[in-house]
Amino acid sequence: MSVRADRLVTMSHPVDSAVSAVRTYIEQHRAAFLDDLAEWLRIPSVSAQPDHAPDVRRSADWLAAKLKETGFPTVEVWQTPGAPAVYAEWPAGDPQAPTVLVYGHHDVQPAALEDGWDTDPFEPVVHENRLYARGAADDKGQVFFHTLGVRAHLAATGRTAPAVNLKLLIEGEEESSSPNFRALVEEQAGRLAADAVIVSDTGMWSADTPTVCTGMRGLTECEIRLSGPDHDIHSGSFGGAVPNPATAAARLVAALHDDHARVAVPGFYDGIVELTDRERELFAELPFDEDEWLRTARSHATHGEAGHTTLERVWARPTAEVNGIGGGYQGPGSKTIIPSSAFVKLSFRLVAGQDPEHIEKAVRAWAAEQVPAGIGCEIAFSPATRPCLTPLDHPALQSVVRAMGRAFEGPVRFTREGGSGPAADLQEVLGAPVLFLGISVPSDGWHAPNEKVELDLLLKGVETTAYLWGDLAENWRHAP
Ligand SMILES: [Zn+2]
Repeated sequence: MSVRADRLVTMSHPVDSAVSAVRTYIEQHRAAFLDDLAEWLRIPSVSAQPDHAPDVRRSADWLAAKLKETGFPTVEVWQTPGAPAVYAEWPAGDPQAPTVLVYGHHDVQPAALEDGWDTDPFEPVVHENRLYARGAADDKGQVFFHTLGVRAHLAATGRTAPAVNLKLLIEGEEESSSPNFRALVEEQAGRLAADAVIVSDTGMWSADTPTVCTGMRGLTECEIRLSGPDHDIHSGSFGGAVPNPATAAARLVAALHDDHARVAVPGFYDGIVELTDRERELFAELPFDEDEWLRTARSHATHGEAGHTTLERVWARPTAEVNGIGGGYQGPGSKTIIPSSAFVKLSFRLVAGQDPEHIEKAVRAWAAEQVPAGIGCEIAFSPATRPCLTPLDHPALQSVVRAMGRAFEGPVRFTREGGSGPAADLQEVLGAPVLFLGISVPSDGWHAPNEKVELDLLLKGVETTAYLWGDLAENWRHAP
């Protein structure tokens, strides 16, 4: 699909009548919204635990019913070989309107009182303006703000359908690595077709620093098996005269980076999208406290590619990490052998412009060069996740920034995500840029005991989407 940007200029909005109409509507419906969210949070939709499979299904049905009630004319529960996803669609009724697909998930991480929760993880409580429950931030709260958001958008504009063709895809297996997601997206690619994907499953820098995430790193992993003699052999009889696979493993690992901590695999950096000067400036403006970050990292020093800051290294630079290395005798005391085998487990975080297949080829060629004659080398790669990145001047990104700026009444900055996720499948299969709209903050405790969401921020999420659809439709029209 091709859409054209009419305006790219970031405008500042005073509190106008549209803003007060949205805020009034949200205030009037806030209590019912929170009651509904609490009801959903009571369903323990833990996708990792087979005994909760009926709860995950119940969660999908609950959401489907709620989206119907919200006004989506089409709502379907999509079965997969695993947990079901929920799909909803609300056409704008305007051929020039862009189409937006919102992605989130309705399953949650496991949680039990004995993990260290102060209250029952599936009995939501509000304390000091925070809502505590498993899934409050990751991701039910952030999916749910879209329901009140679209209603507020309609109420404030007097419309009967949203200004964009609005689609929602809320999967049920995200916390279990989304094993069926890619196949589902491929199978339903026609229905899911969109001009932009908005992922509401991330967060912001902090409550005081609202941010939009513009990209996510990709990931590819491999295990390298090095084999020498058919079985362990005596180091006195044979040592010094045959190659040792454990030595080969160590040499391989040592050769992975150069002295500047750059990845030394030839071709690794081919075609990568470099940070622009503007992006580097914007990252540098974030209130980043490296000492505090180090404490969170439980590390004693920073280390990484020369010429880049810590934030650049974790967000925008590709990496190679040794996740595991082993081989030979691991028991007490000594055992004078040349081991028969050794292994190395590696993972590579990828950035925009890097193609996982190209990386796989480059790593295979590099390893073959490093390993001495007489050592067998087998490399197994697991399925890769591609990186995604949306340029700062993309019109949809500009709309998200303006909508957030209106809701938060201040400047919106940019971040990226160092991790990897299923959003990349949406980008690849649908060919649409991925944007990240989340209001969660680092202290929300994703996957941890006492997960919570800040109610003020949750409602800012509602407010942001209430402005977003109108802004997108106004500034990003299909050419007639
Ligand atoms: Zn999540």
